[in-house]
Amino acid sequence: MAKVTGAMLMARSLKQQGVEFMFGIVGFPVQPIAAAAQEVGIQFIGMRNEQTASYAAQAVGYMTGRPGACLTVSGPGVIHGFAGLANAKENFWPMILIGGASPIYQNGMGAFQEERQTELAAPYCKYAHDVELVERIPFYVEQAVRFSIYGRPGPVYLDMPDDIIQGEVEESDVQEMATIPDPPRTQTMPEYIDAALELLESAERPLVIVGKGMAYSHAEDEVRAFIERTQIPFLASPMGKGVMDDGHPLSVGAARSLALKEADVIFLMGARLNWIMHFGQKPRFSENVKIIQLDIAAEAMHQNVAAAVAMVGDGKAVMGQCNAALDGRQWFYPKDTPWRAALAKKAAANAATIQPQIDDDSSPFNYYRALKDIREWAGDNAIIIGEGANTMDIGRTQLPNAKPRHRLDAGSYGTMGIGMGFVVAAAVVHPDKPTISVSGDSAIGFSGMEMETVCRLGLPVKIVVLNNGGIGKGVEVYPTDGSAAPHVLSVDARYDKMMEAFGGVGFYATSPDELSRAVNEAMDSGKPTLVNTVIDETAGTESGRLGNFNPQSVVSKK
Ligand code: ADP
Ligand code: MG
Repeated sequence: MAKVTGAMLMARSLKQQGVEFMFGIVGFPVQPIAAAAQEVGIQFIGMRNEQTASYAAQAVGYMTGRPGACLTVSGPGVIHGFAGLANAKENFWPMILIGGASPIYQNGMGAFQEERQTELAAPYCKYAHDVELVERIPFYVEQAVRFSIYGRPGPVYLDMPDDIIQGEVEESDVQEMATIPDPPRTQTMPEYIDAALELLESAERPLVIVGKGMAYSHAEDEVRAFIERTQIPFLASPMGKGVMDDGHPLSVGAARSLALKEADVIFLMGARLNWIMHFGQKPRFSENVKIIQLDIAAEAMHQNVAAAVAMVGDGKAVMGQCNAALDGRQWFYPKDTPWRAALAKKAAANAATIQPQIDDDSSPFNYYRALKDIREWAGDNAIIIGEGANTMDIGRTQLPNAKPRHRLDAGSYGTMGIGMGFVVAAAVVHPDKPTISVSGDSAIGFSGMEMETVCRLGLPVKIVVLNNGGIGKGVEVYPTDGSAAPHVLSVDARYDKMMEAFGGVGFYATSPDELSRAVNEAMDSGKPTLVNTVIDETAGTESGRLGNFNPQSVVSKK
């Protein structure tokens, strides 16, 4: 009889369940899993830190709907991977962390890198389990993948001890499993659809908020049909951007604060009223705002604001229901209303405030001027990644998205260091599209060593560092007398030379002329490229929105 190893069964099962990419770092005891993965046709991408590998795995999950795998060694490797689990849990993105573990027969003996891994992973996961029998590996992989993509998506963990990886069983003893289909789409009750449409018809100042749940559920066609049919103004959450084209005439993203504050009925689609949305509460929202909520998770309903209509279901399926129900109605939100006029006026005023900064050709740059060239460079088809405080906040407003699932950033968990992991994931999932990452100089530091990864793999990604020499603001010259404030970094740091050192292309830009030359050449280089752009060290706010965020300014303590 033919025998099969645990490592091969793990690889085979992952491939069978639609896992196409594995990111990680090999070593004891997982090396055989990586080798088997390559043998069965899973692309193995060797990274330089398990954190970045775990970020890459979840970005694959978000972009493709099937979890990416992250493979780590035991103990410290698994602990590093938890960073990604936590980020995926907060974003509801599927990924599978496979942690190597010391052999079962050494449990409790103080084995090499012995750790209570499954127990520690559990709070960050939808599902975490030890694999204790080689023949049951397909069972655990099916269950893990199913948990990660069914219902509200999220991360899962499987613990693979050395003796399970190396163990062998007869093929005939293996517990084979069926391939788990994509998640079944669920509709909501028709009366909720009617209630939602009636509430929207009664609104004076309606608004749609499109979140990344709609991107994840591939609801873009249904959302566009609904918004164009009802003519309701919309705005997008940071990663909901692109489900609707940011340039769509009904977008009121440029009047975001006013739209949120004055709307009387909000259709919240696949987004949460969490800190990013100011909890849906005053003073950033109207106290009497009525919320129509659409989410796949029942437990998401009514968070922070009691919803007037709570629609639990799949984003694409429920928007399809809404569109079908609209066929029987005449109503759409009228063309000339005071609300539309107010939003248009505010958007124009905001644009006029920013324009001088976009047009300001002096050096060193301000953020808006630097992003202008990147915007022209990026075009419509690029996957745009943003991290950093000011860099990400201002980048979100200045770098439009026209397509869904084309923006990746620090997300609901506000994680710095995701950038390079997302860069690698975007480049391997979408080799046909430009991958462009815009990173603050602090943010790039968290996982800058992955520049070696993109150079080794020859991924033609474009990284722009907006370098102001600090976390938030910096100073012109780093004081060497010990007086530097904690947030100050070296503005002279040559991140571009780091990329060159690994075989990529580096540019250093201190003026608009240099930047336009650099971005043009970077786009044509066909190689991993980093443009180190020196920004005015006094530009931006102290440490951007993430750093400045003060919960008490939004919700008063009782
Ligand atoms: P954003 O940051 O864009 O506001 P959040 O992560 O806060 O997005 O919220 C996304 C929401 O989308 C989550 O509450 C999640 O449950 C929901 N979601 C995930 N998948 C689907 C789906 N297929 N259909 C509808 N909602 C979904
Ligand atoms: Mg900075």
